Amino acid sequence: MAVMKFGGTSVGTASAMRQAIAIVAGKRRTGVPLVVLSACSGITNKLIQIAEAAGSGRLEDALAKVAEVRKHHVDLVGELIGSEEIRAGLVEKIDGYVSRLEMLVKGIEIVGELTERSKDTFCSFGELLSTTVFAAAMNEAGHEARWLDVRTVMITDDNFGFARPIDEVCEAKVAELVRPVLASGVVVVTQGYIGSTVAGRTTTLGRGGSDLSAALLGAWLHDDSIEIWTDVDGVMTCDPRLVPDARSIRIMTFSEAAELAYLGAKVLHPDTIAPAVKKNIPVYVLNTWHPDSKGTLITDDPALLSGMSYEGLVKSIAVKKGQAIVNIRSNRMLGRHGFMNELFGVFERFGVSVEMISTSEVSVSLTIDDSTVSDPLIQALSALGDVELEHKVATVSVVGDNLRLSKGVAGRIFGALSNVNLRMISQGASEINVGFVVEEHDVAAAVNALHGEFFSGEHGGIFEKPAGR
Ligand code: ASP
Ligand code: MG
Repeated sequence: MAVMKFGGTSVGTASAMRQAIAIVAGKRRTGVPLVVLSACSGITNKLIQIAEAAGSGRLEDALAKVAEVRKHHVDLVGELIGSEEIRAGLVEKIDGYVSRLEMLVKGIEIVGELTERSKDTFCSFGELLSTTVFAAAMNEAGHEARWLDVRTVMITDDNFGFARPIDEVCEAKVAELVRPVLASGVVVVTQGYIGSTVAGRTTTLGRGGSDLSAALLGAWLHDDSIEIWTDVDGVMTCDPRLVPDARSIRIMTFSEAAELAYLGAKVLHPDTIAPAVKKNIPVYVLNTWHPDSKGTLITDDPALLSGMSYEGLVKSIAVKKGQAIVNIRSNRMLGRHGFMNELFGVFERFGVSVEMISTSEVSVSLTIDDSTVSDPLIQALSALGDVELEHKVATVSVVGDNLRLSKGVAGRIFGALSNVNLRMISQGASEINVGFVVEEHDVAAAVNALHGEFFSGEHGGIFEKPAGR
């Protein structure tokens, strides 16, 4: 059995949904999948705008946007569903959700206060709507599917906006409510991202949480695989917008994938990794538009990994733009303890997370997200020493499990970068990445030079040219 998760762009239009349905139907020949869906692309953002408009008293604005959400789904139904009767029934269901959404808007507008709790309820409509349309379209196309309200199985704590499941409860619910349906040969279609407290209040797992939903459900079902269907060719050696020659990576370890996700690659939510790792379930990242491409397999299973051995050093290059370097220089550091503690205390107080760091006896350089730089923060840091700031820089990280075994890799990295002005360097403590900082306008030159150094050549077929290029 498999969990198949389709992201927002894979269910956002009628042609995308048709494509996704065909992929599920193809899978159906070898097993009965649990299908987990995101909201149609753009809808969650719109729901948040609706919530905020309602909370700040802009009732008309909020209701106009609700009408847009309705129209998107009604149009989808118009394009997807042939039978007039099914279409009418489906529009009625959509209108049921829409009128509840309108009631919520009016209620929040009257109360004049938007809480995390009510925001989660707003956000839940995106997935409820996309799955409702998808399940109906599957059935009309002759593939028996049952719609499941995931809030009956994804039982979470009440940390609204970032809820986490209560494992034992969920596992039992999945065994009771999902497994028998799949066992009877019927595909189950359900929502990613949302859940419910024990008391029945709607929660969400946080933005992008559908991947996590899929991994959790796969783990509770003891599935053979989790498929994350998206609109890119799996995990790439680098962002193809930066490096036109970027390749799709056939196989990588969980630690490489997690490292990449933390370092700025957008394809996978880091939290997704954990439930799958624990149960050693392979995760495939696949492209809805190129279903025959192999995509990326993420696994720690030695048997799978040895089938695809790779002596190369580097698996991927991750880039995070919009960063700032903060440099603090102070003679007080010299031979004294406690300085770092004070320094990190400042970042802690401001709730700013530090990404890359490099220190000497008298100065510390670190990177933070440029949007978290503020005058009060700089003022507080100035109490510790002279502060210098550099905006508009990017961190570039070279990631690969084999980096830890390697000799001479740093030489190759920095040799390739001999024409680039490096603002900071940090050998990742995880031993599987080497990171450095460049000015934003140097990013393309830096990553293309690195890509040429490490990814030209054959590499035993582990890197694949994406389909269609
Ligand atoms: N629809 C939610 C979001 O946009 C969850 C997801 O797509 O994973 O954040
Ligand atoms: Mg997503």
